Amino acid sequence: MQSFTVSNFLSGLIDISSIFNQPCALCGNGQAQQGFCAPCHRDLPRLAPPFCSRCALPLPEAGVCGRCLRHPPIFDALHVPYVYRYPISSLIHAFKYGRRLELAGILGHLLANGTPPIDQKYDIVIAVPLSKERLAERGFNQSLELARSVVGIIPHRFLPGLCWRKCNTHSQAGLSPRQRRRNVRHAFCVETRLDGLSVAVVDDVVTTGSTLDSLASELKKWGAKRVDAWALCRTLRPKT
Ligand SMILES: [Zn+2]
Ligand SMILES: [Zn+2]
Repeated sequence: MQSFTVSNFLSGLIDISSIFNQPCALCGNGQAQQGFCAPCHRDLPRLAPPFCSRCALPLPEAGVCGRCLRHPPIFDALHVPYVYRYPISSLIHAFKYGRRLELAGILGHLLANGTPPIDQKYDIVIAVPLSKERLAERGFNQSLELARSVVGIIPHRFLPGLCWRKCNTHSQAGLSPRQRRRNVRHAFCVETRLDGLSVAVVDDVVTTGSTLDSLASELKKWGAKRVDAWALCRTLRPKT
């Protein structure tokens, strides 16, 4: 299977046409580029270093946080450019629950261009799958739309059907970290061996990382040698 570089992953095949010539998604200003006017883009809540190199929680200095030292995540790296805070939180809400699918390109572009370039190569890009029930209820998988807008349609590399969610787990909202881990344990199935392959998993919002961990665990059980997570934003204070 052919590898591709992160620079391809980040910017190669994004559907630029969908985000040109639109007014700013936040203030309606017509002078927008890639979805935002310059002042609104500048004010987006960036996740600024230093942060934990495994889970991206802010730290006083660069390194690995205490929790990741005690219980290292199963995914190998988490790339996340923004904090889940207004106004990104309201855009994601409008995208997911208001069915504003036109925001997929804008949000995907933020994810694609928000992280510094790295050398990692991936064999496969997938999105965190939704259960059949949740998909029927929402009509689309927001992570899949983000992933699609990031990598474009490249069937031999972008494999949305590689894994699925076998049961409709309860919403993670309002659960403690321990309950979240239990809720998503064994939630995913993978359809083929992935021996020696590197996988990038795209998600919209990371809270405790337990969903990504459960999926990474299944991917590694099927042979993946590396699983990195790419998410648009992360919450800073997981609910306890
Ligand atoms: Zn604006
Ligand atoms: Zn950490």
